[in-house]
This record gives sequence, structure tokens and C-alpha cells, in this order.
Amino acid sequence: MLTTTIYISNYNSIRWKEDFMRMIFDKLFKKSYDDFNKLLTELIEKKQKRVIVTANPETFIIANTNTELHNHLLKDDVIIVPDGIGVVKAGNILGYDIKERITGVEIVDSLLHILNRHPDKKLYLYGSKKEVMTDMKKYVEVKYSNIIIVGAKDGYNYNENEVFAEIVKTSPDLVLVALGIPRQEELILKNISKMKKGIFVGVGGSFDVLSGHKKRAPKILIKLNLEWLYRISKEPKRIKRFCQNNIKFMFLIKEGKRRKND
Ligand code: UDP
Repeated sequence: MLTTTIYISNYNSIRWKEDFMRMIFDKLFKKSYDDFNKLLTELIEKKQKRVIVTANPETFIIANTNTELHNHLLKDDVIIVPDGIGVVKAGNILGYDIKERITGVEIVDSLLHILNRHPDKKLYLYGSKKEVMTDMKKYVEVKYSNIIIVGAKDGYNYNENEVFAEIVKTSPDLVLVALGIPRQEELILKNISKMKKGIFVGVGGSFDVLSGHKKRAPKILIKLNLEWLYRISKEPKRIKRFCQNNIKFMFLIKEGKRRKND
């Protein structure tokens, strides 16, 4: 009982930093997936430079205390999308009209699809296990055969600075980084100023799914917004991380709502 009280009061002490959190919610992409697709097409055709951050509750928790990450997220060339039903619902509670969640897997497939329509576009893949990367590369080669793959490095056997030096040298139109939150975001944001063009996305476990090494939740669960439950049931070691982040996020949003009503 005492442990539970300490546990909860510990979360209760999490402070909603009004300017910090509001700024991220203000910036969050709130339109539909189709609108996002149109934006991606335009960015690629115009050879723009952007970082796409797929934000889940953990992203908000980290950004609430990590000033560097927070400031990076607010930069003009960063687009934040709501990946996770928790973020959509939280935004709704705070009075934002967020149309739908936009997941990493969907973004990757959309971007590859757009890239494939242009015969001269270059792709760099970085992250995930060696065998996943081998199959991810095959997946792109077979399904999107117009894309030129200028690099495919797994996330366990290469030095990240050397990989990014190669990314700068090869100047890809799209760079997908699958190293998990927040490492992939920190790495991209640290290196983005060296690039002249390119769309950079931290894609978490998307390569595991697209390469066929892990299954995505059945469509019905995705539709019912229960994909998180499926992931936990398949990987129970995620439970602690999931609960900690979501409980903290819940308290954070509760506090944000209270401030809004004050
Ligand atoms: N990963 C990696 N190198 C590491 C740690 C992780 O390449 O040192 C990869 C891992 O194999 C997986 C991805 O990063 O493909 C993280 O996936 P996860 O589903 O955990 O993403 P998150 O939930 O953090 O977005």
C-alpha cells in the first residue's frame, strides 16, 4: 500500500511545463493521413530538408524534461506527428482537434511509394538487427525497384558517426533511422545541420515489421486502437516501460487540463 502511494505520489509530482508542452501540441500535425501524404510528396518533389518525429507518450515525457530535445523539436525543419492513440486522445482532452494517428510504418511505406515514382531518388537505411536490415533492403528492392539504395547499415555493427558521415557524403533524399526512441531522434537532430536536403525519419521498430520479422497487430485491433495491447502481449518486457510512460503522460495531461481550466 505504502509502495503504491509513493509510486503514485511520485508521478503526481510530475510537473506540466505549460510553455514546453503546449508548444509541442501546438506544433503537432493535426490533419488527416491523406493530408500528410500530400505534404510528404511536396517536400520530396521540392527537395526540401525535414525531420519527421513520430511522437508517442514517451516523446512527450522526455521532451518535458530534456530542454535540448524540446528545443530541437520546435525548430522549423521538424514536423511532429501523433504516433499513438494516447497522443491523439491527450490532444483532444487539451482542446486540440487531432484527426488521427499517423504511425511510423505507414510513413515509411508512404515515403517509399513517393520515392519510387521518381527514378533518381536515393535512400539510406540505418538501424535494426543485421538480419532485419538484410530483409528490409530486399523488401525495398523488390517492392520499390526504382529507388536507389545508397546505404543499408544495421544498428549494431557500425559507428553512428561514421554512418552519418556516409549519409552526408551520399546526400540521400530519404534517410530512415531505426534505433529506438530517443536515440534515433537525438542522432538525427544532432546531424541535420550538415545536410542540404533530405527527409529524415526515426522509425522505431518499422523495419522489424516491414521486413516480416515481426507482425503488426491484426487490422481489427488497429481499428479499435488496441495495437499497444498486441505489442505488449507479444513482448511482455515492454510492460514496465509502457506503464511508466503512459502513467506519467496521464498525470502530465491531467495537470495540463487543470491549468487550462484555471
Ligand atoms: N536497435 C538498433 N540498435 C540498438 C538498439 C535498437 O538497431 O542498439 C533497433 C532495434 O533492433 C529495433 C529498433 O531499434 O529495430 C527499435 O525498435 P522499438 O520497437 O523498440 O522502437 P521504439 O519502441 O523505441 O520506437
